[in-house]
Amino acid sequence: MKKDIHFSSPVVDAHCDSLTRAMDQNRRLGQENDAGQVDFPRLVRGGVNLQFFAAFINPRFRDNPLARAMEIFDFFHREVADNANVVEAVYSFEDIKRALSEKKLAALLAVEGGEALAGRIEVLRMFYRLGVRSITLTWNGRNELGDGAWESGSGGGLTRFGVAVVREMNRLGMLVDVSHLSGRGFWDVLKQTQKPPAASHSNCRALCDHPRNLSDEQIKALASAGGVMGLCFYPDFVREKEADLEALLDHAEHAAGLAGVDCIGLGSDFDGIDAPVAGLKDVTSLPLVTEGLKRRGFSEDEVKRIIGGNFLRVLEGVLKERGHTC
Ligand SMILES: [Zn+2]
Repeated sequence: MKKDIHFSSPVVDAHCDSLTRAMDQNRRLGQENDAGQVDFPRLVRGGVNLQFFAAFINPRFRDNPLARAMEIFDFFHREVADNANVVEAVYSFEDIKRALSEKKLAALLAVEGGEALAGRIEVLRMFYRLGVRSITLTWNGRNELGDGAWESGSGGGLTRFGVAVVREMNRLGMLVDVSHLSGRGFWDVLKQTQKPPAASHSNCRALCDHPRNLSDEQIKALASAGGVMGLCFYPDFVREKEADLEALLDHAEHAAGLAGVDCIGLGSDFDGIDAPVAGLKDVTSLPLVTEGLKRRGFSEDEVKRIIGGNFLRVLEGVLKERGHTC
């Protein structure tokens, strides 16, 4: 990580569904409103420096996922523009560094569900031009790119279109997100990508046997590819019963013991979940995760990498240094 990042320990959260949650609830992100778990004032209070905002393509929009993506992108850009004093959309690593040095919240637009591409590589390039810098290739089902976690039984991975998307994302400077993919899809991405991928919001399957979590082999492969997994606060991915902050911290310890701390980050899934693990309330609870990691014996430098440094390293390697065009 470059030394000129201004904050000593930037916090990066690689996944929230606050755009669509706010749209559904008819609320604005510039105003604090505890109907949701995230808004700009609470992101600032929670100490977040870079937030990924996912345009989640709910399956109920399957008739026209591209139009739905456009509505969500419009909401993202309007919310950012209306709150330009505290938040800035980021398109390059230079933008991220500038936002951090100006002590503004950096907002990164992501897509959750590659069906938004409508099966066209031209749409991917237009998404780049509209500011998208990360795509979760599938949600749980099957789309034009490949099979999601619910389809793992089929043995299907990426389609030819999915492979083409991964390669074009590498070329454009977009982060490939393997969360929600089927097992085979994960391995196909690892084989195809020339840049470190991310699992933006997935935990360890060894501790919580859920198809959305990563096996030990997957975590090791992700780490050797220079990638990172975002610890997800959704109770179902943390522990079968009594999922709390301590159980979440067990996932950090497990992944660190298996593959080292450099593959661990945060991917809360706030506003994509009814409630996070016990002990956390909303995005203002994030400092409790930092404190918990310290309590578990991670060194100051390791904690710094887990809460943001690792995702910044990956983004530095994936995003273009500057420029918005392709
Ligand atoms: Zn998700």
